[in-house]
Amino acid sequence: MKVIPLNCNHCGAPLEVAANARFVTCGFCDARLSIQHTGNSYSTEVLEDLRATTDQIARDIKEIKSSTAIERLDKQWEHQRFNHMVTDKHGGQHLPSKGGAVFGGGLIVAFGLFWTIMAFGITSAGRMAGAPGVIGIFPVFGLIFIAAGVFNMFRIVKKADAYQHEQSNYLRERRRLLEQSERERSSS
Ligand SMILES: [Zn+2]
Repeated sequence: MKVIPLNCNHCGAPLEVAANARFVTCGFCDARLSIQHTGNSYSTEVLEDLRATTDQIARDIKEIKSSTAIERLDKQWEHQRFNHMVTDKHGGQHLPSKGGAVFGGGLIVAFGLFWTIMAFGITSAGRMAGAPGVIGIFPVFGLIFIAAGVFNMFRIVKKADAYQHEQSNYLRERRRLLEQSERERSSS
């Protein structure tokens, strides 16, 4: 049997091991060693170090996996958020909020009320002065504005609800992934 001379990587003591051996226990310090063959040269490595390296790699992989999952979720949410955007009357895009819905719809309703009252006053004065009856249609435009304002208010409130629902789903899923990765880190 061919024997190769080696040094213990832990205490430096000279060792003699069989050429085909892969592991050896140092007779001087009891360290468990793995034998590394690199070309024609041999060296030893303390097994505990090797184990630590392997564990570290496994931990790293787990961490990378969970952070990719969170990243993917975030990207998906960025995209989803965009679909929830509503366009305001200035052409700007923003996320729907109930406060904004009530304010925006309220402005339209207020304008409609103002129009109706003014138009009603003007047309009844006009009728008294002998204007044709068709001018009685003008107050109706105000009523259309009021209806549109109320409709818009409900439409945006509904959108804000849907957005909030999906946002809380996203946040819950993100928290779950974070907790999962923390559990894995503390258990490994
Ligand atoms: Zn040794």
